[in-house]
Amino acid sequence: MHAQQPVLFLSHGSPMTALGGDELSRAWSALSARLSKPAAILVVSAHWTTRLPILGGSAQPETIHDFGGFPDALYQLRYPAPGAPALAQHIRQKLSAAGITAGIDASRGLDHGAWVPLRALFPAADIPVLQLSVQPGCCARHHFALGTALKSLRGENILLVASGHLTHNLKEYFRQNAPQPAPESVAFRDWIHTRILARQIEPLFDWQQNAPHATFAHPTAEHFLPLFVALGAAGEKHVAEWLGGGWIGNSLAADNYLFD
Ligand code: ZN
Repeated sequence: MHAQQPVLFLSHGSPMTALGGDELSRAWSALSARLSKPAAILVVSAHWTTRLPILGGSAQPETIHDFGGFPDALYQLRYPAPGAPALAQHIRQKLSAAGITAGIDASRGLDHGAWVPLRALFPAADIPVLQLSVQPGCCARHHFALGTALKSLRGENILLVASGHLTHNLKEYFRQNAPQPAPESVAFRDWIHTRILARQIEPLFDWQQNAPHATFAHPTAEHFLPLFVALGAAGEKHVAEWLGGGWIGNSLAADNYLFD
């Protein structure tokens, strides 16, 4: 028997976080020292969006540099972890048993929502990794159900990583790039943060109606929806721990959480 792995919600930062030296990469370094080595890692990344859930089934996933206009050094970075094709099949069956139809894409690599934090958490890149896509056309409850269906993987020594952002308004980030967080982003972040730590899940489901400035914080939902996969996999009696992460510019709250 393995000890049960925790669930992580990570704000994955700008690709520049991969070069280190910021508050977010320091939070990941501190987390890295605490994690026990899992048998495999399943990452639900905001940077893979599909209509139906799709699992990555590559035996050797490529590092995808899914960003433009950044320094050359970032395009040289690789995360050569092996894939987990058999685990993809196993997870697909698990989802099917929960009434969720999922596909497998055998050519899918690792996007920066996966490899940027994993390089910091598990730099040896020797643990098999696979991804699961996000469905921006579906609601929070769908993603929570995905997480609930994946919860038992934790007892199989598999680490679940939900990778998005607590707030994510890129247009505002590039328009302003101000050092102070925007009041709208702060209000949304604080509202969500309070409910995560208090385990008040129900009001979170209708976050677009209930949370202040939700459209400003997330003009599109894909960076927020991974949080619900983490909350579903965390289970009913979880303890949520805040791991810090700070702000990137004025509109990217980079908070990280561990659920156990
Ligand atoms: Zn992103």
